[in-house]
Parts: sequence; structure tokens; C-alpha cells
Amino acid sequence: MLWEFTMAIHIGRTLPPAAAPLHFKDIISGWAGLFGGGATVRRFEEELKGVYGVRHCFAVSSGKAALFLILQALKELSPGRDEVLIPAYTCYSVPSAIVRAGLKVRLCDMGQDSLDFDFDRLGEQLEAPRILCVIPTHLFGLPADVERVKNLADHRGIFVVEDAAQAMGAEWNGRKMGTVGDVGLFSMGRGKVFSTVEGGIILTDNDLIGRAIEKRMGAIPGYGAFDSLKLILYAVALSLLVHPLIYWLPKSLPFLKLGETRFDPSFPIRRLSPFQAGVARGWKEKMEELREARSKNAGKIASYGIAPPGGRAVSPGLIRFPVLLADAEAKKKVLRASEARGLGISGGYPDAIDGIGELAYLPAGNGFPAAKAIAERMVSLPVHPLVNDGAIQRIVQLLI
Ligand SMILES: *Cc1c(COP(=O)(O)O)cnc(C)c1O
Repeated sequence: MLWEFTMAIHIGRTLPPAAAPLHFKDIISGWAGLFGGGATVRRFEEELKGVYGVRHCFAVSSGKAALFLILQALKELSPGRDEVLIPAYTCYSVPSAIVRAGLKVRLCDMGQDSLDFDFDRLGEQLEAPRILCVIPTHLFGLPADVERVKNLADHRGIFVVEDAAQAMGAEWNGRKMGTVGDVGLFSMGRGKVFSTVEGGIILTDNDLIGRAIEKRMGAIPGYGAFDSLKLILYAVALSLLVHPLIYWLPKSLPFLKLGETRFDPSFPIRRLSPFQAGVARGWKEKMEELREARSKNAGKIASYGIAPPGGRAVSPGLIRFPVLLADAEAKKKVLRASEARGLGISGGYPDAIDGIGELAYLPAGNGFPAAKAIAERMVSLPVHPLVNDGAIQRIVQLLI
């Protein structure tokens, strides 16, 4: 499914909607990682365990692959349960992984003007007898209340999978996001907190879950020589093309599928390659630098009186700045203007999850009005390090 608002090609300075720039030196350390082989990946996993204070950590080819493995492990631990409760507005990769794992998607609507569950409904939704797990999600890095979900889910024997795909390195209430649920995941894809071209991380301190995943990891292939080469070439291309002076070019090439979000359960599932683990080298420092740059930009946007949905404070871990506009028409206008001026504002996911045709068993009709409203009215503003003060002013002018 294409994003709805692809317009005329804008030639000239164009901001990507999200960017964790890859530098030439990252590719060099990726190359060095290749020569370290499996040890490079193990070192990365050990570093993650140390920083996040968890006993189990697995690095794989994407956030979707991470979620797939988590779901398979939970399914083994709780046979007889086959439904996964997710927010009705989230990344299409999430239902893709659920379907791939042979499980069924169940939706809970979003709170009014929040990007978290509607907690008035969540308790009731969790009464359904076949729910295996629930997936609170830190969309754009805005903290979701995982603790509250755990309080509702634990005594019902429902696992809490914390989707921190967009929140690696962020903290909330003194706890590291990704470590509050029974098991958590990060993504290192393009457009996430920091990037190894593609990649995903599983974290858990639960030995049952950890062992069930470990057992599966042994059977998962690594990247073959051809796939590693593709990855390296893609990394080089990304490091060159993400610059605002050039980004209009890849953006105008439809086969690169930039800015596209799709439902597709047929994604590859691999162990992270030594090249990617090498690219990740120095990840704590890199994430900190990126976090600082993004939070500074988000602060500047907020200083104009613009706030994320629900008037919530700007949290330091934002990777894009979500804003609810008055209606669908306002959203179209802003996206059209952004497209014409190369400002990198994006429309988010094209529809609520019940709008995905392949999930025909979901309740039809207007079952998830808050999620629909978010899909219709929300845009996200870029805050990555390539956004300068001039761009912020031009972006803000479209909104106030
Ligand atoms: C990106 C994303 C994923 C999937 O991560 P990939 O690495 O792209 O597979 C899952 N959940 C959310 C909320 C995401 O934003």
C-alpha cells in the first residue's frame, strides 16, 4: 500500500522525514565487523545486556523478525492462546509479524488524542479468553504506559510485549523503555532511533521467554554472502543519498519504496550480520548524539506552542514530532505544501489497522474511531539532525 500523498517531484533541497544518518566511518567499522565474524555480534549483544540490565538479548535482521520470534516463543509457552492485542493505530509491520507467526490480530482503540491505548476499554478487551499477549507501543518515541498495561495483563496470564521499535535509548519514569514489559523489542531500520540499515533487538529478563527464543535462534539463518553484499551496497547508498541536497533523487525513484509502509508477512528472518553489528559500534554515543539533536529540534518546535497529541510534553526520546491537525483536509494541505517545499513532513501510517484488507476477520465498520481520526488527521514533523533552524521555521509556519 502506497502512502496516500505522493505528489509531484520536488527537485532541490528535500528533507527526509526521518534520518539516523549513516556515516562513511560507520561503514568502515561495519567492514571491520565482518572480519570479526560472529564474535562482533556476540559483543554487541553483551553490550546491550549490560546497558539494559537484562539476562537475554538477541540481535536479528529487523524489528518484525524480532517480534515474530517473540510471538513464536510466547505461543510455545502458552499453547491454546492465539490472539495478539495491539493498538488500532500502529506500524503495519506489527500485524505482518503476527500473521507470520500464525496468530490473530485483535485491536484496541486509542485514547482520545493520545497515541496510547484507550485505557477505558483495555481492561474489557483483555477479558477475551484467547489473548496470548498485548503490545503497548511507544509510537514516535512518545512513552506508552507499559506499567499500567502490565497491571491489567499480569493476573490474567497475558504477556506484555513492549514495542520500543521507535524508542531505543529512551527512558521514562526512570526506566529504560523496552525493559518494562515481559519482553521488549527495538528496531534499527532506516528512520528509527539509530540505524544498521536494518536490524532488530529482543530484550528480556524472563528466563522462560529467553530460553524459548534462544532455542529458535539456533535454527535461524545468517546473512549469506550475496545478502551481506546487498546490505553493504545499500548502506553506502544510504550514507550518500540521505543528505537534503540529494534526497529528492532517491525519493523520486518509486522502486526504492522510500516512505512506504506495507502489510507484508513474507519478510526475511535472519540473525544480525557481523557487518551490521560492526556498523552499530559506538551505538551508545551515537544514540546520545542523535537524541540530543532531536530533542533540541523538538524543543524548538514546541516553543511555538505546538504539542504532540493530548497536549503531552515533548519527551526527550521523540524521533519524529507527531501533531494532530483539525481534519483530513488540513492534513492534505500541510502534506502538499511540505512536498512542494521539501520539508519532510510525513503523513504517518495510511489507515487504522482494521483498514488492512488482508485482515478481513477484524470487525467491520467504524469500530476504532480514535485510531481512524489519528490516521486522518495526524502528521509527523522531522526533528533529525539534518533539520536546521530555517527548516523548523518553514515547517512551523505551515502549522500556526
Ligand atoms: C518500525 C517498527 C516496527 C518494525 O521494525 P522493522 O525493523 O521496520 O521491521 C515495529 N513496530 C513499530 C512501532 C515500528 O515503528
